[in-house]
Amino acid sequence: MSQDLMNTLQQAFEQNVIDIENYKKDGRKAIGCYCLYSPVELIVAAGAIPLPLCGTKNDPVAAAEEVLPRNLCPLIKSSYGFAALNTCPFFRFSDMIVADTTCDGKKKMFELMQQYKKVHVLQLPQNQNVEKSLAPWLDEVRIMKEEIEAVTGVEITTERIDAAIDLLNRERDAKKAVMDLAQIKPSPIKGSELINILFKVGFLADKEKGIGLMNTMVDHYKALAENGESPYTAKTPRILISGVPMGVGSDKVAKILEESGASVVGFENCTGYKQVFTVEKEGDRLDVLARQYLSIPCSVMSPNTGRLELLDRMIRDFKVDGVVDLTWQACHTYNVESFSVEKHLKDAHGLPMLHLETDYSDSDTEQLRVRIQAFIEML
Ligand code: SF4
Ligand code: SF4
Repeated sequence: MSQDLMNTLQQAFEQNVIDIENYKKDGRKAIGCYCLYSPVELIVAAGAIPLPLCGTKNDPVAAAEEVLPRNLCPLIKSSYGFAALNTCPFFRFSDMIVADTTCDGKKKMFELMQQYKKVHVLQLPQNQNVEKSLAPWLDEVRIMKEEIEAVTGVEITTERIDAAIDLLNRERDAKKAVMDLAQIKPSPIKGSELINILFKVGFLADKEKGIGLMNTMVDHYKALAENGESPYTAKTPRILISGVPMGVGSDKVAKILEESGASVVGFENCTGYKQVFTVEKEGDRLDVLARQYLSIPCSVMSPNTGRLELLDRMIRDFKVDGVVDLTWQACHTYNVESFSVEKHLKDAHGLPMLHLETDYSDSDTEQLRVRIQAFIEML
């Protein structure tokens, strides 16, 4: 990324903290979320600021381990540690937390988090069969709407939901356009740059600013590609990262892949392409939101065939040579699902996969490097 663009992104990220402080002084509410399954349109429709709170840093993990078991997913420990230490400004800003009963570790952690903030937990079904799961999930979405109305004092009307759908569809389109830059061969953008952009833009309270920034990035990188400029060549191995979410601070695998000579072209996780969808404005809006969010293909669902379909599309569109399936330590759902993903990649695409299980620390960096280099050499 050009230094100017990187500076602009960093300045927007830092200014955002000041902006949110000012918005809050003016009475605007902020609502934190821990999962892609939370329909964020309802937060935006109430005029509140949605803040993605999943922890991506190792620093607060030690504090979390004073309460939580050590043998727990680092994302859960990092998220709880930030709350316990009160070191995350975005957690501090949140007037309410919306959480989901996704995996066992996360839902039990939310019980403990209640001591720091009001946590509203959505009872997420574990099956995406609409006949079985839609009715209870729709109830949860309705209750979430009522809770947000109570916290913000704003009635969430259909008109307000439609405006939020429009805004968030445009934001998702802009994110998709940034991610789709890597479909160009060779890619003009590094995977670690993609994470940096998606992560920082995700916190911006001013969504128009974020959309504008992403559109500028797209123009910049397209111009580079048209001039034949890329950090890679047409022969550089193109890697798709699948599995658990990543962010700034938990992106070591993407960085090691790049240091080992690969081009990370995509993320099939909820940091990346899992958040690419369009919400339609038709019929009962809560029903539409409930259906759309229920269909997100995460491993907490059983079965989770949507993930394989998403992988099929991405392998084709991003011209992928190999897949790295990342599992955070003690994440049983992604760990178990890895077997089916590897089999599918081999049977349907003849593609090799490297499964990595790690945490947020640097303790295994060199071991990971050895395995990743051997994988890249084999491609
Ligand atoms: S990986 Fe799944 S459960 Fe975890 S935050 Fe993403 S969508 Fe939610
Ligand atoms: S990565 Fe796995 S264990 Fe960690 S919070 Fe997400 S689903 Fe749960």
